[in-house]
Amino acid sequence: MPNDSLPSSVFLKAAELFPTPFHLYDEAGIRNTARAVREAFAWNPDFREYFAVKALPNPVILGILKEEGLGLDCSSLTELMMAERLGFSGEEIMFSANAMPPEEFDLARKLGAYVNLDDISDIDTLAVHGGIPKTVCVRVNTGGTFTFGGNQIMGKPGEAKYGWMPSQLKEGLERLKSMGVKRFGLHAFLASNMTDPGYYPALARILFDLIQTTAAETGLEPAFVNLSGGIGIPYTRDVPPVDIRAVGEAVRQEYVAVFGEPGPGKPGIKTELGRYITGPYGFVVTHAVHEKKTFKHYIGLDACAVQLIRPAMYGAYHEISIVGREHDAPEEIYDITGSLCENNDKFAIDRPMPKIHLGDLLIIHDAGAHAFAMGYQYNGRLRTAEILYTKDGGYRQIRRAETPEDYFATMVWPESE
Ligand SMILES: *Cc1c(COP(=O)(O)O)cnc(C)c1O
Repeated sequence: MPNDSLPSSVFLKAAELFPTPFHLYDEAGIRNTARAVREAFAWNPDFREYFAVKALPNPVILGILKEEGLGLDCSSLTELMMAERLGFSGEEIMFSANAMPPEEFDLARKLGAYVNLDDISDIDTLAVHGGIPKTVCVRVNTGGTFTFGGNQIMGKPGEAKYGWMPSQLKEGLERLKSMGVKRFGLHAFLASNMTDPGYYPALARILFDLIQTTAAETGLEPAFVNLSGGIGIPYTRDVPPVDIRAVGEAVRQEYVAVFGEPGPGKPGIKTELGRYITGPYGFVVTHAVHEKKTFKHYIGLDACAVQLIRPAMYGAYHEISIVGREHDAPEEIYDITGSLCENNDKFAIDRPMPKIHLGDLLIIHDAGAHAFAMGYQYNGRLRTAEILYTKDGGYRQIRRAETPEDYFATMVWPESE
């Protein structure tokens, strides 16, 4: 069920204060979820959640998560620079490599981050870019298809570009050991947006078994298992939210079965949730600005795929509601579109909705992760503002809208040559 915990008065007030479209984030919802994740894994004394910066790269949000005791998962130089500027350091940062420009390892090592190696060849790169640390993390890819519980396929790791094959672990880690590594972590990300609470426990069991056999084979100390991201959120009404407490408890049971009771010298647990932490607590706030009846019935919004590309890119479903008439019965079937000259710029296709009038304020739900972050400037449609609905009930602009001058600033104009 999409999050509809904020009253319509919040969106009405925000739209009085700021021109639409904009993203609005609910600080209290984000803080509560960050706390719930920490509590769910508090049984492990060496637990840390590293928020995946790419999901919502806003410094104010990242600062809030820092206050809640989270670290950051960075995957590029600029994300590392944001972490540095916000005062994250050392083991508060996970650097997830993936076809990295080699120089990006230098800053990760300078900051003392955990480096998560995506390929066995990254060993040589790291050796000359920052040096080999005492503790490394290795990303594994189990290949084939990933299933659990029943037989339903949950992910296709064999098609994914990420990670080492398990058969490469012994050779690679022995090399790392000869270069001074003492401890290692194992990471895997086998499926995305999983609302089945069995995902983390199933992944945890695979990694617990693998880290134990690999540690025995190599003589290295198993430092931690990194369950990565992938816990999903309910974009549709028929899916219940994931009970993170139950997930934490199920992971604990798998842990005890392999390692016994947690304690000093036993592996830690790390997570890199993005979507689960902020996804439900962000909304695109937008006005209906155009109506058109041709072969279909269209409503045009002042927002477009630049604010939220998931429907255009993956056919993803996002709940849309009319502020103040959230519970009215559907009367019409609409295609709800943006203004890009691209026919996939549709937030909804054949969506039953209450009757929409021009000027109505609409919200698109579950836009707190992989939404603003995937924005772009196609058609000269610029990125818009981000507003924080604060825990004390205030409205704070935490990123201004881009202006045409921002857009033109990197261009070369004939008259200036
Ligand atoms: C994208 C990503 C995440 C976060 O994924 P979510 O689906 O937002 O939880 C975590 N770790 C890595 C390495 C990623 O690339």
